[in-house]
This record gives sequence, C-alpha cells and structure tokens, in this order.
Amino acid sequence: MKDPNILYQHGTLALLVPGLFEGTQTVGELLKHGDTGIGTLTGLDGELMILNGTVYQFSAAGQIREVASTEKVPFANVHYLDDHSMGQLENLDLKNFKKSVTEKMQTENLFYSVRVKGTFKLMHTRAVLPQKPPYPTLTETAAKQCEYQNKNVTGTLIGYFCPDLYAGAVSPGFHLHFLSDDHRTGGHILNLELDHGELYLQQFTDFNLNLPIENSEFLKQKFNNGEIIDSIMEAEN
Ligand SMILES: [Zn+2]
Repeated sequence: MKDPNILYQHGTLALLVPGLFEGTQTVGELLKHGDTGIGTLTGLDGELMILNGTVYQFSAAGQIREVASTEKVPFANVHYLDDHSMGQLENLDLKNFKKSVTEKMQTENLFYSVRVKGTFKLMHTRAVLPQKPPYPTLTETAAKQCEYQNKNVTGTLIGYFCPDLYAGAVSPGFHLHFLSDDHRTGGHILNLELDHGELYLQQFTDFNLNLPIENSEFLKQKFNNGEIIDSIMEAEN
C-alpha cells in the first residue's frame, strides 16, 4: 500500500560514521517504499535525489545520471509524495530559509519532508568521492568531498526535517539535497540563497526504520552514541 504517512529509512545514519558504506538494499527494493527521497550509494558514491520514482545520482565528478534498480544503498530515506503547498518563499539565505520552514511546521517533534520548486541565486552543494574498502570514517570521507557553487539555478530542493530526539538514527534537523531542472547539477546542500520558490511540506505519523540484518559488519559494530552524534554534525552540516 502506498501510505503517505510513513517516512521509510533504510539503514541508520550511525552506521556511516565508522565507515559501513557497503550497500545493503537495492534501489529496486527501496522504491517499493516511496517515490521521493534522498540517499547515497555503496562507498558513499555521490548524492541521491529520488523524484517521481526515478533515482538520480550527482557524482563527485559533477555529473547526474539515473541509477539502475540493481545498485545498492547503505542509507536512504523515501516516502510517497503527498505534500501540501505552504506558499511562496522569497529572498532567503540558508539560515532564514530554515527559520521560515520551521515556522510553517506545526512542531519540531515530528518528521517532515521539505520540497521547494524554485530559483536559487546560489546553490552550494557537495558530493562525496566514492570510497573503496577498507572504508574510512564518515568524517574522513566528508573532508575529501567535492563542492559546487551554481548561480541562478532553477530546480527542486528535496529533503527532510528530523527531530533532534532521533539523532544518530537520523541526521537531526534539516538534511537537504538538490536537483536542477536541466539535470546539470545537484547534490547535498551546504548553503543556498533562495530567490523565490514554492514550499511544500508533508508530515509523517510513522517512521519506518529498516536495518541491514544480513550485514555482519553492522551486526558486529560497537557504536558510541556521543561520538556518533558529533561526527554526524560535523559531516552532514
Ligand atoms: Zn546528504
């Protein structure tokens, strides 16, 4: 059943921190749980944007391609799109953008999807370079990311707001990706200046966390919660 009340997540963000970058779910399986979302591929190879049931990868080399259903993700979020327009936003830097979106949310204690169709004066993104086993840590990998700055670009911002309460399982606060309408650029958003755009929000009643029960490295890993949250804040913001 295509239930728009469920935010589905494969993998816990925490497993990326010590470098568990092996994909543990196929994109085909992931798409059985939603048509919209974000994620990454095996080896943290680039940034994924899932729009209308198609998975796009923005690679560290700066290229967009469609991802095949057989490729695997270590971590991804998807949901079935059923969001609602919250009106137009104009002339906002990232800090004020987050503030405006937070004001439109009913609470900071629920999960939301955030989507903006708009034009951005600045879109500053990153894509992580693909890593090979033995994998480095998330912080080491993020230090070697490729950054892109595009001016006056039109496209779709897609991502999530996750409550602080669930930090570790998720990246707390906003986690936002971008795909330009011309499919020339995208990635994980580091900074932006919105010129104008329409904001859509979707609130979820359920958070469905799917864990990689067949991945022996995940099953053996010892997680230190304090270290994990510090590393997530450093690498994902
Ligand atoms: Zn990201």
